[in-house]
Amino acid sequence: MPKWSNWSGWVKSNPAVIAKPDTEDALIKAMAAAPGQVRVAGSGHSFTGLCATDATLIDLSRLKGLIDLDRTKQEATFWAGTPIHEMTQELYERGYGLINQGDIDRQTISGAVSTGTHGTGIDLCAFPSMVRAVQLIVPGGEVIKASPAENSDVFEAARLSLGSLGVISQITLAVQPAYKLVERGWTMPLADCFNAIEALKTATRHFEFFWFPYADDVICKSLDITDEPAKPPRDHDRGRTASAEEKRVRAMFDLTARVPILSAPVTRYMTHQAKKGSMQRHAKSGSSVRWSHEAFPSPRNIKFNEMEWALPAEVGLDALREVVAHIRQKSVRVAFPLEFRFVAADDIWLSPFNGRDSVTIAVHQYYKQNYEGLFDACETIFRSYEGRPHWGKLHRATEPDFARMYPDWLYFQQVRRMVDPEGRMLNTHLSTIFGDKPYDPASGANIN
Ligand SMILES: Cc1cc2nc3c(=O)[nH]c(=O)nc-3n(C[C@H](O)[C@H](O)[C@H](O)COP(=O)(O)OP(=O)(O)OC[C@H]3O[C@@H](n4cnc5c(N)ncnc54)[C@H](O)[C@@H]3O)c2cc1C
Repeated sequence: MPKWSNWSGWVKSNPAVIAKPDTEDALIKAMAAAPGQVRVAGSGHSFTGLCATDATLIDLSRLKGLIDLDRTKQEATFWAGTPIHEMTQELYERGYGLINQGDIDRQTISGAVSTGTHGTGIDLCAFPSMVRAVQLIVPGGEVIKASPAENSDVFEAARLSLGSLGVISQITLAVQPAYKLVERGWTMPLADCFNAIEALKTATRHFEFFWFPYADDVICKSLDITDEPAKPPRDHDRGRTASAEEKRVRAMFDLTARVPILSAPVTRYMTHQAKKGSMQRHAKSGSSVRWSHEAFPSPRNIKFNEMEWALPAEVGLDALREVVAHIRQKSVRVAFPLEFRFVAADDIWLSPFNGRDSVTIAVHQYYKQNYEGLFDACETIFRSYEGRPHWGKLHRATEPDFARMYPDWLYFQQVRRMVDPEGRMLNTHLSTIFGDKPYDPASGANIN
């Protein structure tokens, strides 16, 4: 049994030490005592080998909770291991909410920030843009406070760093007064959706659609701010176990994993079910109103592997068409939907949205099915549209690719090498990303 594995079960790791500090002092001591390579894990929801190590793994699940809420600045400081669902509950109880959120809220805030996690919304940026300050513990145990006013280079890098600088212990984020969202779900012929995309993306605060690649309709979802009364709060444990609906859908994915030729009819059936409003909450006709922290996330109890690329907004639909054409022409066995979202440009060095308004296209494969052929073909398409991969999701890009994709790559590399000169935070996966070899315990250095 591996001592650590990620959410999908694809990444397994056997760290020599797993440290679970419950105070910042304990974290500093763990960082000072770690003899060699160090990795830090949030809730393990990344699909790549970001957290894998056979040396020291820092698990921040005990370092959580609200530290401070500054109502004047509308900023909240949390311990870095706080899961987003606990964070948003704490904020809601004090009259605040996050500006945007992704599909789920089970990640830690530092994990979400550190990989550029995003939701959807043509005018809304990803999580790293909400960051106002961090406190970073670097290998050896030194503490660095970083904000635009203090250690600003470290701050720029730490807004999205894959845990390659050190361990964030505290994180300060911009928040906004609590707000309610009305959710609408509907299906429409994909040609109509494509023709209306410019209007759809601006008509509401958050628009996205899902497309089962063998179906001719897409499933649309929108969220918009409202003053209408909200439904009563959800059951606290909602989403921890699979609903009857999810169990039924999972049984269908099991079937397609065993009999892959059924992928096409199954996806058409699922779109049909969505049309009838009986498969997923967001495909139901009509609307529902909830406070934002309850409106954004959906349960995800069916395991999958995922890749997602950010593309310049103007080429998004062309790339999507190519992906679906490939799947159909090659009869690729995939029963999961593609997800199409919008993210506003930012200026963060390692952000996939750096300098350009983007769409994101996510490709999923059931965890019992091989994803390599499908993901490789999609990656070729996404690269041809100048895409950038999601840092927490599967891809094959390496340092030379990133150096081309990111205009500020060298700034980030400079700061990373300054903060962690021995490469103690690098594992095998991060070495392929940054091009520096991992720390070598035998020589006490990283050899380049
Ligand atoms: C079901 C599911 C749904 C998802 N939905 C979305 C979505 O809607 N939008 C989206 O963009 N992504 C989504 N993701 C991807 C996910 O948000 C990211 O992979 C995110 O990083 C996971 O957070 P985590 O807490 O699990 O971090 P982990 O996966 O544990 O770690 C991610 C990275 O953060 C680093 N890290 C963690 N804590 C710290 C710290 N304290 N200091 C420094 N570095 C740290 C780790 O070293 C690692 O490099 C989804 C993933 C799953 C499995």
